[in-house]
Amino acid sequence: MEECLFCSIVNKKVPANIVYEDEQVIAFRDINPQAPVHLLIVPKKHIPTIVDLTSEDKDLIGEIYLVAQKLASQESIAQCGFRIVANCNADAGQAVFHIHFHLLGGRKLGWPPG
Ligand code: 5GP
Ligand code: ZN
Repeated sequence: MEECLFCSIVNKKVPANIVYEDEQVIAFRDINPQAPVHLLIVPKKHIPTIVDLTSEDKDLIGEIYLVAQKLASQESIAQCGFRIVANCNADAGQAVFHIHFHLLGGRKLGWPPG
């Protein structure tokens, strides 16, 4: 079976500007940034959508938020503010079917999102 794009980044078959990596999580800069800081925080485990999460993934999702907190500090947006976004399926415009959390900041972010 062909690997998905983010599995290929996890396995270093596709290059990315990686800013963080541990046993369970990888984070890299979005190729098409929507804000001065736009990182993708990605579990190494292939989970297609938020709908596919199970209770087994509880700790993993907690880890994602701790990594987000660390990266927000590293990118100097922890105090001024940032947003974490996870798109799920068609209406949200999910394009890559391996769950990921966008960390956006470095500018005033509009609300509601488009
Ligand atoms: P989604 O729309 O699924 O929530 O977000 C997918 C994100 O992945 C988009 O923001 C898109 O710019 C980003 N992306 C797509 N292909 C690549 C790639 O090859 N490398 C990186 N770093 N980001 C990508
Ligand atoms: Zn994958």
